[in-house]
Amino acid sequence: MSTGKSAPRAIVAGGGIGGLAAALGLAQKGCEVTVLEQAAQFGEIGAGVQLGPNAFHAMDWLGIGNAGRASAVYIDSLIMMDGVSGEEIFRGPLGEDFRNYFGNPYAVVHRADLHGAFLQSCQTHPAITLVNNERVLGAENTASGAKVTTEARNTYEADAVIGADGIYSKIRQRIVGPNEPMRLSGHVAYRAVLPIDDMPEDLRWNAATLWGGPKCHMVHYPLQGWRSFNLVATFVTDIENVGSNEPGTREEVLSRFAHIVPRARKLLEIPQSWRRWVLGDRDPIPAWIDGRIVLLGDAAHPTYQYFAQGACMAMEDAVCLADAFERSGGDFDAAFKTYETERIPRAYRVVLGSRELGRVYHAEGVERLVRNAWLKAKTPAEFYASMNWLYGGTGLSGSGRPKTA
Ligand SMILES: Cc1cc2nc3c(=O)[nH]c(=O)nc-3n(C[C@H](O)[C@H](O)[C@H](O)COP(=O)(O)OP(=O)(O)OC[C@H]3O[C@@H](n4cnc5c(N)ncnc54)[C@H](O)[C@@H]3O)c2cc1C
Repeated sequence: MSTGKSAPRAIVAGGGIGGLAAALGLAQKGCEVTVLEQAAQFGEIGAGVQLGPNAFHAMDWLGIGNAGRASAVYIDSLIMMDGVSGEEIFRGPLGEDFRNYFGNPYAVVHRADLHGAFLQSCQTHPAITLVNNERVLGAENTASGAKVTTEARNTYEADAVIGADGIYSKIRQRIVGPNEPMRLSGHVAYRAVLPIDDMPEDLRWNAATLWGGPKCHMVHYPLQGWRSFNLVATFVTDIENVGSNEPGTREEVLSRFAHIVPRARKLLEIPQSWRRWVLGDRDPIPAWIDGRIVLLGDAAHPTYQYFAQGACMAMEDAVCLADAFERSGGDFDAAFKTYETERIPRAYRVVLGSRELGRVYHAEGVERLVRNAWLKAKTPAEFYASMNWLYGGTGLSGSGRPKTA
């Protein structure tokens, strides 16, 4: 039905999972969206990502649940091993009981496949324009909305701007100022993807497995229809001048895991090449809005990966924003306020909780003994109940297990 009014317009800075999810959600609610991405191509790094049921709730809401499911590997359990003794200390079953409880599965997926599912839906949506090679430098409010300028000296104007430009967000600087420090803890992640044949047979588990050790931990899980295994090795160091996505060395990663059981440590000898990232988060901020400019995803709430929820939260943000936009009748001011109010407590619970989880994973001495005793005693029912606040959420108002028919 035509009302004679032109459609509201939004600019999304950043075409990662959060930016594309936001573009898709807003376009589905009647908004015309332009996504500006700095890279020459839309894409994601070659690594895996874990998706809790809340990510599938969000993808279902955005209409791409089946595309997301198509490339996922459905793991049987979340396993935690003590990296010093080599014993299993926790196994969270992810089978039928889990799916019935949360209404969706827990799965692992290659980032390119997940991002590709969003990209394809955005590419085929008539109200979405995708623009590459546009590095956003900043955003400003205008009399009727907001605008961004880019390094190529282009200006894009719309009714609203969504900053989905990641942990080093330029749009965030507009809201918190240019000198906000990253909260670097010295955590460094090494990542590699192994062909399945390179993965030792005795560790080809259909699980997301975490080996927790003093000041370090490793995670592995199958990917891409069991053609490969994702491997992430994280350690705590006092070096802070590590960059993002740069080459790492086998010698460095092995030296940081010298105290870990050989069964796990031998995995680190396998990759032909490693990439390494410094990990950091930022302290929570009380406001994500400046006029018609708002933050989303890592730009709003960058987090350590210890809950495996950063991308899941970005998708939930998109659902919440699009839903608020629709409920407000297309009023960005009202929608932004609703979005900010609903998302801040939930997203920052993940950020602050992830800091604590890092301590659990890296426990040593008596803390390690306490951790092991606590996790060994946890029943599946207790596991499900303890994760309900997170996995039961949808991005829509309230949280808790979604109602099943
Ligand atoms: C080791 C590790 C493991 C992780 N594992 C998980 C997991 O298992 N599950 C999970 O849910 N999350 C996980 N995460 C977190 C997840 O990767 C992030 O939270 C998620 O990618 C954030 O998405 P985003 O779209 O907000 O930001 P990003 O993915 O950072 O995307 C930002 C986009 O904006 C672009 N951009 C940046 N600056 C500009 C600019 N100035 N102008 C234009 N474009 C710009 C970038 O090129 C990029 O495309 C992990 C993170 C790490 C580091």
